Amino acid sequence: MSAFNQQALDQFGFCFDNSYSRLSNVLFTRANPKKFKNPSLVIFNRPLAISLGLNVDALTAANWACFSGQATPINAFPIAQAYAGHQFGGFNNLGDGRAILLGEHVAPNAERVDIQLKGSGPTPYSRSGDGLAGLGPMLREYLISDAMHALGVPTTRSLAVMLTGDVVYRAKPLSGAVLTRVAASHIRVGTFQYAAAIDDIKALKGLADYTVNRHYPALENHPQPYIGLLEAVIDVQALLIAKWMQFGFIHGVMNTDNVSIAGETIDYGPCAFLNAYSPKTVFSSIDKNGRYAFGNQPMMAEWNLTRFAESLLPLLADRQDEAIRIATECLSAYQTRYRAYWLSGMRKKIGLFNEEASDLALVEDLLMLMYKHQADYTNTFRNLGNSSQLKGTLIDDGSFKNWQIIWRERLLRQAQTMEDVVALMDSHNPLVIPRNHLVEDALDSAIQGDMEPFYDFLEVLSKPYQLPKNEKYLQGAGAGFDASYQTFCGT
Ligand code: AMP
Ligand code: MG
Repeated sequence: MSAFNQQALDQFGFCFDNSYSRLSNVLFTRANPKKFKNPSLVIFNRPLAISLGLNVDALTAANWACFSGQATPINAFPIAQAYAGHQFGGFNNLGDGRAILLGEHVAPNAERVDIQLKGSGPTPYSRSGDGLAGLGPMLREYLISDAMHALGVPTTRSLAVMLTGDVVYRAKPLSGAVLTRVAASHIRVGTFQYAAAIDDIKALKGLADYTVNRHYPALENHPQPYIGLLEAVIDVQALLIAKWMQFGFIHGVMNTDNVSIAGETIDYGPCAFLNAYSPKTVFSSIDKNGRYAFGNQPMMAEWNLTRFAESLLPLLADRQDEAIRIATECLSAYQTRYRAYWLSGMRKKIGLFNEEASDLALVEDLLMLMYKHQADYTNTFRNLGNSSQLKGTLIDDGSFKNWQIIWRERLLRQAQTMEDVVALMDSHNPLVIPRNHLVEDALDSAIQGDMEPFYDFLEVLSKPYQLPKNEKYLQGAGAGFDASYQTFCGT
């Protein structure tokens, strides 16, 4: 690899400010990325770089170095963040064990984003881990986060994946890789839990003030900004989970350390999309009891938000009983919020512009039928009005035909034309999602050194509502694929 060229890198346009590292130093530790021997670029997200105001043409091959941690962009201040988390219900002190925050890039439009390296070597929080990541899991995060973005789901993004040139030892040896992650921030429910757990109220208050200022600045004039913060986080999480449910996304590891205070999907590990509709669907190899099964996600988000509320208690009121009363009242809004966001999204999926009291039952009846027939979630919604395109046993069920009759009558009780209905449905029901078998195929090829299938899939996923040239992107996997499909944390 050519020598690192600081001048060219500066022209790339990173504009670092490191406001997080001005918080209490209990919340982070300085950490430097590992120096890898022979890094090389695998993929770079030009559209994302351009949207961040970066000068993509100024970044020459000699300067990819900052995406593997070989070079530090000017004014970056690399740290590992401290956090705790309830992992499958059990509380642990964690922290960035395999990630390093380079700092915050402030884009020309004043948007502030974290630039983080994932898989860049050990940190003081690595415990027994090596701080490294394999190519497959990093490309998986790149692909799925990009797909989520194209679907309109709030998410962290992926700017680049580099091969480190080193081997990472897991069940089998893997090619080591580093992902550059872009996020609104990496403040998690677990970050608040950490400050509360060490009983450092000053750090907790500093973190809360910082979060309000960075993510919810309108709350600075709120008479009680910490109550406002709790309400705001409940709201963004309700919206986020509603979106996951609308697209059939299963996060897989909704531990409190994987819940972003900014409301983005974060920490893509064993995530996957549903094919056949069943609320019980679990793909993660470590989720033995189905805690994070598809249908449990709304409830688990509420559980996580309750942990967030608990960690805020010292800030909500002087007296603990009063603080608990306030937190409980805020949390009681979650279910209503979530249901409203979910139903609003589901109405669009079935072409409804206006609201009727019976809409919830209409949606639920459809889901029941899809469950009974193990119908493909994505394709059923997309082809709801077009029985000739619906596959499987659903179409032969008299109850489904009946449902279609009731639905068509319902569509007539609104002012919009059928053309409007189709346009609404087509813009809320994707044709293409990152189906498990296709993700695996693309990753398998990439690991063998052939990136073409990955690029091709990425391109198709960037336009999920358009008909792809290749029909294979529309199909579910063959029978039995999902029954044995397992996803892994990638640690
Ligand atoms: P995750 O399951 O990826 O959300 O990670 C849970 C915790 O384990 C976080 O604190 C990670 O930083 C840490 N962790 C995961 N993989 C590694 C690794 N290879 N080395 C060190 N820490 C890790
Ligand atoms: Mg995590």
